[in-house]
This record gives sequence, C-alpha cells and structure tokens, in this order.
Amino acid sequence: MSYADNNSNTLHNFTAMKKLPSLPFKNFFAHEEFADFVGKLAAARPDLCQLSSIGNSREGRDVSLLTITDFSTGAAEDKPAYLIHGNIHAGELATTHAALYTAQELLADASNSDLLKRVAFYMVPRLNPDGAHYCAATFGKLRSRTDRSERVPNTLYQEDVNGDGILLSMRQQHPNGQFVKDPKDSRLVIRRRAKSKGPFYRVFPEGMIHDWDGTDRLKIEGRSFDWNRNWSYDWRPEPEQGGAGDFPFSEPEMRALGEFIHSRPNIFGVLGYHTGPAAVLRPPSTGSISDLDEGDDRLMDDIARLGEKHTGFPVVPVIKYRNKRARDINLCGHFHNFGYHHLGLFVFEFELGQIWDSAGIGTDVRFAAETEEEQEQQLRKVMKWWDRQKNREPLFKPWKRFKHTQLGQVEVGGFIFPHQINPTLKALSKISKDTYQFTLEHAELHPYVVLENVAADHVAGDVRRIRVRVANRGELPTHVTNRGRSLQRLRPVRVEFYPGGGVELLSNSGHMNVGHLNGVTGSCELEWFVKTGDKVKRLCEIRVLGGTGGNVIREIGDIP
Ligand SMILES: [Zn+2]
Repeated sequence: MSYADNNSNTLHNFTAMKKLPSLPFKNFFAHEEFADFVGKLAAARPDLCQLSSIGNSREGRDVSLLTITDFSTGAAEDKPAYLIHGNIHAGELATTHAALYTAQELLADASNSDLLKRVAFYMVPRLNPDGAHYCAATFGKLRSRTDRSERVPNTLYQEDVNGDGILLSMRQQHPNGQFVKDPKDSRLVIRRRAKSKGPFYRVFPEGMIHDWDGTDRLKIEGRSFDWNRNWSYDWRPEPEQGGAGDFPFSEPEMRALGEFIHSRPNIFGVLGYHTGPAAVLRPPSTGSISDLDEGDDRLMDDIARLGEKHTGFPVVPVIKYRNKRARDINLCGHFHNFGYHHLGLFVFEFELGQIWDSAGIGTDVRFAAETEEEQEQQLRKVMKWWDRQKNREPLFKPWKRFKHTQLGQVEVGGFIFPHQINPTLKALSKISKDTYQFTLEHAELHPYVVLENVAADHVAGDVRRIRVRVANRGELPTHVTNRGRSLQRLRPVRVEFYPGGGVELLSNSGHMNVGHLNGVTGSCELEWFVKTGDKVKRLCEIRVLGGTGGNVIREIGDIP
C-alpha cells in the first residue's frame, strides 16, 4: 500500500499527451479495436488514466483495467474507488461501449476534475475478452464460454459452414421439427402447434456435428458457462444452477476480478453492465427483498432510482426481472447477492436493452407479453420496425439454401446474434451518456475520510500535545451498508501514529482503531502526548487507513 502524498507518484508527462480518442458508435469492437481504444485513452491522459491488466483470459488475452483518477492528488488505492465492469456475457458487446464511454468522458469532461481528485475509477470494460471477441468477430452465439477442450459426440459446434465469414443459424425441413415458418413473416420461425401445417423445421446454430451417430439426438455446443453464476454467494453446482462452473471463481477471468476486488478495501461501489430488456437491476438475486437489511434496502432503492432518473429504465430487483406471469427468479452465484452480502456494497447492474427496446418495445411491454403468440407478435413488430430503418444496422440475413455435408439440404440465415441481443449502436450512444451521468451521481456519494483540526501545542517543558479530528465528510458511511458493518472486508478506520526522530511517545498507544465512521458528521477526536529532544524536525506522521473513505497521510512539524 502506498499513501496519498501531494508530491508523490505524479505523472505530469504532458509532453507525451496525445489527443483523446472519441468513441465511435459504428460497430461493436473486436479485440484489436478494443485494445487499441483503451491504449489510446491511457496514452492521451497519463496524468489521469493508467492501463494495466487484472489477469489473463483463458486464451491469453489481457483482461484490461483502466484506472482513472487525478494521480497528482494521490494513488488510486488511497482514494475511495468505484468499479465498473462490462461484457461478462460474451454477446453483450454494447456493455464494453458503455463502459468505454464513461472512461472517455471522465477524462474528457473538465468538470470532473474535482471528483477525480477525490475518487478513483477502476474500469474493466471487457471482463470476457475471449467471448466478446468471438461474438464481435463471428456473430456466433455464446453466453460466457463454451467448453471446446473436449469435443462431445453428437454435439453441434458453431462453424462457418458456408464460408461467408459469419455464424448464423440453420433451418432444415424435418418431419419432427419443432418450428414452422411464421405465416405472417416468412423470415421468422415460430413454434409448431398441434394444428400447424407443414413444412416443419428444426433450427440449429450454423455448424458441424462432432462424431455424429446420424440420429436426431443432437446437443448444441456442449457445456455452457454463465460467469454471472460463478460468484461466491450462494453458489450452487450444475444442474442446480445452470452455467455455474466447477466452483465459485473457477473461471480465471472471474477469479482475477474477485482477487482484484478483495485486495482493494477502498472500493465503495460497483456497477456491472449487461444487455437484457432495459432495467436498473438491484439485489436480491435469490429469495426475497426481506432478506436485505431494511435500511439498506431503502437506500439501495434510492440510489437505483438515480439510475432510473437518468436512463428512464425501470428499477427491478433481480428476482422480479422476468415475465409478469412467471414466478420470481432465483439466480445462485449471481453478482448482486455477492456484491451485497459478501462485499457489503450497493451494487447495481444496468441492462442496456436489446433490439426490442430500440424498436420501441420496452421492458414493461415485453414482460407483459403473456402468451407465446404475443411474444411472436412483438418479434414481428421488431422486423417491421427494422424494415423501415434507413442506414440500418445488420440484424437479419435472408435464408439461403445450402448443402450441408452432414445434414444435407438446409437454409443458412436468420438473426445476427449480437445485433439482436444488444440495443442499436445509435440508441447506445444516448444510453451511454445516461449511464455515465448515473455513475457520476453514485460516485459522488463516496465516503471521504479526512484529517481536520490538526494542532500541536506546548503542554509543559518539552512535552507536546498533538490533536486531530478524523472525520468522514462523504455521504455514505465507511461501512457503506449496514450489512458491511459486520464484514471483515470493509475495514474500520485505523489511525497510525509514527513519532519523528528524537520524539518519544508518552501516550499509552500510538495506533488506534477508530471503527467505522458515519457519513457527513461521523468523526472522532484523537490526541497524543510526546516528549521532544532538542530541535526535532517533525513531531510525527499520522496515517489514516480509511478503507472505503480513502487513506490520508500527514506530517506534523514541531511548534516553532
Ligand atoms: Zn448479461
């Protein structure tokens, strides 16, 4: 750990500064474009932004970290810190963009200069660089990761079978097919009912079947991992929780983030980005609201409503993020319960929307679709809306006949996966502005530990009394949530007293545990008595380890 010091660790290398890049909302980033952009951000403002990595992905890519703060006022680890992560889910590429937009604006907008003096931002815009690259480069379908290390017989793996450079879907006529062409929009397939007229279709991702026995008992893509079920709180193995992985933090990228968070007691807030029907998601992700402390629940809701104010997205507890007719959902090993119960923080996830949202079919309408017919009708509306767009983004490729070496005659086409499950880039440029505004407002609530009323006076002869007030002048308490008060992770404030050379501490204890400090007025007065020799340079150094409120270091010279 290093300590804040007005002179140390300054990176006033302005001569090396380059022009700040401007995030283009033109296409979702493949890995090289992402790496290029974060590199340019850091190179443009070395005084405010450092690029590093929290670890390596399974395929060896950097899991990039941008640390953003005014380094001239101290190191990031000495300041209250706000963590943003995106793209834990491979196909949710809009989330990388939203995180990068916040990073860019934190650097570009001069009105943040005061905030960046006090607060550090840790940004992991792309927690899943392998999966995100796969989806951006191929348009393939992927949740977080597929296990391709050991190919399973009779399993279809995505592959560009027709050589057009992208991964689409295959539909094939089959007497037992579960789908029929939609009579109202023949581009779509809908579920086959008892009264449906043929031809019937089965639908697969574009690909090849490994070690196929020729039967219809096909599996798709083998084992699938959902990294947002790999966090530690209430983790459950498969099949109790689909996608859970082998054990909490079994996925290297998740483990890297878990270690990163746990080695930074200064983190007071976390925001994750996803793309589902637009929403400001908040805990809990299992059980019921009453599992949360009542005061925490209310404040959590207040902060979430700031998100609603800026984005227009409804505030939804994760357990209620589902179709109106469905039962409450129960997601084990999920970020929200981890963030609240294990980190003791107010954590949120923003669902940035999907093509439905961009087409005007919002979350309430989408979740209110009570029947399959209504859901099919909504997808038709999306297609009609898309047909009317000028300069439209790719969403759908017409079906084209193709002779598959295993399956025979099929058609290849359908939705372009990332463009279906993300908002349009045009919509995203506005959404990114809104979520950035939320982050500014959430971050302004940070705990803020300061040293005040620092004084030294003569008591008698060569005895001096040193007095200080340690206070939290931030909005949130240093334990952030009531839950956090009992957690080891959220460190109570500790004050360390180091006498200068030739100075003798007379008080019983130098170092003191002050405990947590409430927001705004939480404070305590401390004093020490010391005996000085001849002409000492300084009486002492006081170090305040303020946890989420940041660290303070102060030297106190002898009284003239
Ligand atoms: Zn997601």
